[in-house]
Amino acid sequence: MSLIVQKYGGTSMGSPERIREVARRVARFAKEGHQLVIVPSAMAGETNRLLGLARELNPDPDPRELDVIASTGEQVSIGLLALALQAIGLKAKSYTGWQVPIVTDTAHSKARILGIEERKIRQDLEAGHVVIVAGFQGIDDENNITTLGRGGSDTTGVALAAALKADECQIYTDVDGVYTTDPRIVPEARRLDTVTFEEMLELASLGSKVLQIRAVEFAGKYKVKLRVLSSFTDVGSTDMGTLITFEEDENMEQAIISGIAFNRDEAKITVLGVPDRPGIAFAILGPIAEANIDVDIILQNASSEGLTDFSFTVHRNEFKRAMQILETKVKPAIEAKGVVGDERIAKVSLVGIGMRTHAGIASKMFGALANEGINIQMISTSEIKTSVVVDEKYMELAVRVLHRVFELDKAPAQEKMKP
Ligand code: ASP
Ligand code: MG
Repeated sequence: MSLIVQKYGGTSMGSPERIREVARRVARFAKEGHQLVIVPSAMAGETNRLLGLARELNPDPDPRELDVIASTGEQVSIGLLALALQAIGLKAKSYTGWQVPIVTDTAHSKARILGIEERKIRQDLEAGHVVIVAGFQGIDDENNITTLGRGGSDTTGVALAAALKADECQIYTDVDGVYTTDPRIVPEARRLDTVTFEEMLELASLGSKVLQIRAVEFAGKYKVKLRVLSSFTDVGSTDMGTLITFEEDENMEQAIISGIAFNRDEAKITVLGVPDRPGIAFAILGPIAEANIDVDIILQNASSEGLTDFSFTVHRNEFKRAMQILETKVKPAIEAKGVVGDERIAKVSLVGIGMRTHAGIASKMFGALANEGINIQMISTSEIKTSVVVDEKYMELAVRVLHRVFELDKAPAQEKMKP
């Protein structure tokens, strides 16, 4: 008997019929003798609907109240799933985040989990219940309801798996695993049987919207065995989806590049004509950091005439705020010539642990993009990824070209065993 945490996403919970399917799948695992903790998301589209209602009443909503509203989607889901399980003869009991409680910090709409009280859950499991815990939500030490950020039910699932020392955390979604890239853009995209935790972190953070990034970080930190699978297969299916592994097993198939991630979530900002002297990067990015705005790619060139341009990217949601800070505070302070922004950019990234040991990947990437006449606006690299910023309108083309050039549609050749 093992303890399994299963998280079901919004489409898996999307209708009464889908919820019945989830119940049947849960019942199958229960019959096999496993203890089960189930973490459902809100029904598909529900969180958007709720947040839309909130914005209709107030264009600048109080984050605390937004969390009160947004968290209700999951509360409906847990109750419905409990009823569906009971209807087919299982003992089931649901808990909201604050009933568990799942304690978080106070950062509304992006709260972090600080601790989970697992006592009640354990008792219920021992008593033979399927325990259902609402995803995406928690409570801070002042009893305010918090939410964990969009897609946060993944994190709830992984955090529960960590707290309960579950044997496995299964993330059921509407895709059957992690792909080399989004199959809607590249139909030849291939499913990966395994992907390393580090690669997954890059694939998740860079826009392969399979798993919430925090969930992957959490899994890495607490060594939670994580699997992504589809809830749209037969209930009896033995398909194992994609396993997120922790070590590079030498005998495992080993691709140089595992996948291509992309996103349209960022915007580029350029501060024009800034003096090229010590302290400038701090003068520009200090106020941005103070305003809690995350910066991703940063680009500054040395200058020959003493003036240079300084570019960086921020999340599109923070774009207006960042522009305002730069215009009102930074520009006058450092006597920059101007501030310009571009929201129509996209970031495309090659990801693979093989980059550590193989040279020439980046140049092959740049060559492939050049052949298609795609201009690269910014570049950033790390040990296992190379990212470029391009005009948004070339994003899909760039992903397709790179997928082809790096032959990601083909299963990687078995690496020769080392002598
Ligand atoms: N319902 C929340 C959202 O849509 C959380 C989740 O689905 O994971 O973001
Ligand atoms: Mg999701």
